[in-house]
Amino acid sequence: MLFAAWMAELFPYLPRKNQQEIIAEITDALTKRNQFVFESGTGSGKTICVLAATLTYALENNKKIIYTTRTNAQQQQVILELRAIKKKTKDSRIIGIGMQGRGNMCLLAKDNPEMQNGSSEELSRFCSHQKKLAVSEKGKGCSYYKRYLGDKDHVGTIMEWMQKNLPTAEEFIGTCEKQGICPYEVNKLIVHDALVVVVPYVYVFDKSIRIKLFDWLAISEEDVILVVDEAHNLPDYLRELFSAELSTWMLNSCLMEADQFGNPSLADGRVSVAAFCKEILDVVTVLRDTYVYGVLEGGIRRINNEKNDALIPSHELEVEILSRLKITSKTLKDIVSDLFAYGEKIQEYKQKGGKLPRSYLHNLGVFLGFWTSIEMDQYIKLIVDAGEGKNPRVEAYCLDPSVGTDILKDVHCSIHMSGTLEPLDEYRDSLGLPIETRMAMYPSPFPPENRKIFFVRDVTTRYDEMMKDKTILPQMWRHVSGICNNFKKNTMVFFPSYNTLSMFKKNGHFAEIQRCLYIEEQHMSQSEIMDLVTDFKSCGDENGDGAALFSVMGGRISEGMDFPAEQLEIAVIIGIPYPKPTARQRGLQYFYDQKFGKGWEYTVQAPAARKMLQAIGRLIRNENDRGVAVILDKRAPRFHQYIKDMRESKDLLTDISCFLKR
Ligand code: SF4
Repeated sequence: MLFAAWMAELFPYLPRKNQQEIIAEITDALTKRNQFVFESGTGSGKTICVLAATLTYALENNKKIIYTTRTNAQQQQVILELRAIKKKTKDSRIIGIGMQGRGNMCLLAKDNPEMQNGSSEELSRFCSHQKKLAVSEKGKGCSYYKRYLGDKDHVGTIMEWMQKNLPTAEEFIGTCEKQGICPYEVNKLIVHDALVVVVPYVYVFDKSIRIKLFDWLAISEEDVILVVDEAHNLPDYLRELFSAELSTWMLNSCLMEADQFGNPSLADGRVSVAAFCKEILDVVTVLRDTYVYGVLEGGIRRINNEKNDALIPSHELEVEILSRLKITSKTLKDIVSDLFAYGEKIQEYKQKGGKLPRSYLHNLGVFLGFWTSIEMDQYIKLIVDAGEGKNPRVEAYCLDPSVGTDILKDVHCSIHMSGTLEPLDEYRDSLGLPIETRMAMYPSPFPPENRKIFFVRDVTTRYDEMMKDKTILPQMWRHVSGICNNFKKNTMVFFPSYNTLSMFKKNGHFAEIQRCLYIEEQHMSQSEIMDLVTDFKSCGDENGDGAALFSVMGGRISEGMDFPAEQLEIAVIIGIPYPKPTARQRGLQYFYDQKFGKGWEYTVQAPAARKMLQAIGRLIRNENDRGVAVILDKRAPRFHQYIKDMRESKDLLTDISCFLKR
């Protein structure tokens, strides 16, 4: 009934059949408090469906919606859809806000690179001190906070404007900046009245940040409807969030800190801070030499250049520290406590000096405390040779994303969606969702004849074969340059990694592309990427000649950016983006084999399929879009279960030409 009302009166667009089904299913899941996991093709309008269903239910049942996204671009999309609903309904109860991390919202941190890299805890301490100064000492502390406290009229006007206009986070921050008022503080006020809060994953899955968010919202977990957008990213995101590492760069920073702030002794004079750090530095280097480069035999080191990480025995790091320093594990615990205490003092000192309260020694204490208490059934310990041999690190890598999903059991209902989530049972099992979780796959609502996918059998990026057969790479390049040079259409070429992209670049191949060429670089800022994409899109306009954009699968462009109509008509996939066979990847595969009996399917095949489908998904964003994708790898047929409409091409240029002319 509720759903019928939305469809008839309030849904802001003409609903497609798929969308009606999705809304009905979500409404039922909300009513029965089931978890709901679903896949619906990229561009099929999932966001508006989820908002329509959850808003109706939330208003009727006094709930709030926390909508989580991976990127700021996805967050913007949610706010725009919410605006469309509000415009149609004119319902003043629909208040939604987009929140970003404090690094983006703190105006003092905005143009300060050190602050931008601060952790949420460091920025929170920095802010507390600035606020304290602002109220207690004249002429000191954060001016944006002072204005926030002292100009209630202005704050009230901003809040009214927000409630009425539903700005994106970027628009809101810009407005506050113009008024000289802290956006973070205004957000905290308004979030209490918001019905929908759109946040990055970290606000929900990092417990310390989540507690703050729920306090501002002033609600209990069971009154929250949680939405996870682009959910295929969540397992990897959680693995990263719950992993920890200690690099030689960080240990050198600890030494500099000891040099700058004094070098006290630890554990009742057993060892000085600097001596302790130097010992760990040496242990990390020896671990790298032993496990990554190969065991020293007769004084000869066997360097293995193909390897850059290795598993290490679970207690090797601490056993080595104990034996070198001739201390017991009880003394090591005392050392860790002393590092905490000493680090706290440094943090306070920096805080008082108006700096980011970061202490590397404190972080070292946190790391060692964590490292020595890990449950080894959910983690592996690795030594990684990073920074071209200059920055090796030890890493506790979290294999099991379910360590961070307790919140999913506590909320009223969680809805997980993506354009590429298959196999759904892998997602459910990875996150530890109950077996009775609802799962659904919705076919693409767009005409199948508008999309063609070809693959070829004469090339591959399989390493062994490329090494053996030197004709493969030139043939691969002939395909790429042939497609880019023969069709005056906007074309995107997706490489499996930045390394492969730069390999082609170094070989001088790019000079053969006879059209406007854009290249995504790994270290581009978000605004640089946006500029690049805007320029590329404009080449697909009526008057444009079409351009080529070289990008990577699994990157910021291939996932989450829209290229409707002529903005993109051809997508070229170079090779199968299998994960690199690192020790970390092997550990993950083994874990999934042990737990679910599907290591290869869940950790190799499914992630590679998702990356390809995300890239192909950029082609078709509505009923009228047409596009052709080409997979340049003979292994493509292994993915028929994911890409059912894929066909072999014996003559790529003719096949593409026929499709485009149709
Ligand atoms: Fe930053 Fe706002 Fe805190 Fe000032 S009050 S330090 S602008 S977050």
